[in-house]
Amino acid sequence: MPELPEVETVARELGRKLKGRKIVSVEVRAPKIISIGPATLPPVRAASPAAVARFKKIAVGQKFVSVRRRAKLLIFDLSGPWTMLVHLKMTGQFIFEDVRLRKMTGGKYRLLNKAAAPKLQLPARHTHVVFRFSDKSALYFNDVRKFGYLKLVHDNELGQVREFSEYGPEPLDKKFTLQVFVDRVSARPKAKIKQVLMDNKVVVGIGNIYSDEILFHAGVRPAREVAKLSAQELAKIYRHIRPILQKAIQAKGSSVGDFVRTDGSWGRMGKFHYVYGRKGQKCKKCGSIIQAIKLGGRTGSFCPQCQA
Ligand SMILES: [Zn+2]
Repeated sequence: MPELPEVETVARELGRKLKGRKIVSVEVRAPKIISIGPATLPPVRAASPAAVARFKKIAVGQKFVSVRRRAKLLIFDLSGPWTMLVHLKMTGQFIFEDVRLRKMTGGKYRLLNKAAAPKLQLPARHTHVVFRFSDKSALYFNDVRKFGYLKLVHDNELGQVREFSEYGPEPLDKKFTLQVFVDRVSARPKAKIKQVLMDNKVVVGIGNIYSDEILFHAGVRPAREVAKLSAQELAKIYRHIRPILQKAIQAKGSSVGDFVRTDGSWGRMGKFHYVYGRKGQKCKKCGSIIQAIKLGGRTGSFCPQCQA
């Protein structure tokens, strides 16, 4: 699942590529993916043919003004009084293809991060929405699991989007101080530290990958109970959050699972992982074997020597 660095990579790349582009057509191949209005969507849903028609009618003719991120939500500001909110959830991905990229790739992309995955022509089986532009470029939204969504919200109704009011602080924001972190973490004294780091109300955008990596660098095991952590340990965890997320943004994210960049290439952060996805391999610092434990349905990986 994409986390803050991956979503930030998509926002920056699409912000650059889409700025000023005018949508000339929209193809909705899976009605489930789209919706109109601020409502929070249930997992099982389907847009009516009328909603699909309205979605297209609103989008066609609009220009993309900017692309931002809040938590793991992508915010596309459109030239009209509308905003498109996109959540990639488990396996959502965007590919922006212009004539130049199509020449380079032959129009084929490996949408899974496995060297053995087939290269597919877009739109492929898991392409659910396509935006086309006047210069023959196109923006494809692919999603194997189909949990992601594209939601058009009128600017007057943005205040009613519940996700925004539920998100905790942005970890890269100056306002996210050690005191804010400690206060929010301490509100869940009985929980395990890894689960608390992944809690959107404590801090947004940190999931399975980066919670493992932050805790490795802080020297704290993922299953430690919050109430039993010392002030020094909490400060150490806090101090590693920003550098690790920033390094991952520089590397254009971690291509694990289905995450690819918007030109279909892979992020390089995976090379820098110390523990995530490395169970059974040697610790890069001390040579001990990386272990894994189950924590509420998720797996936490850690080094038994480097983390206490
Ligand atoms: Zn180690």
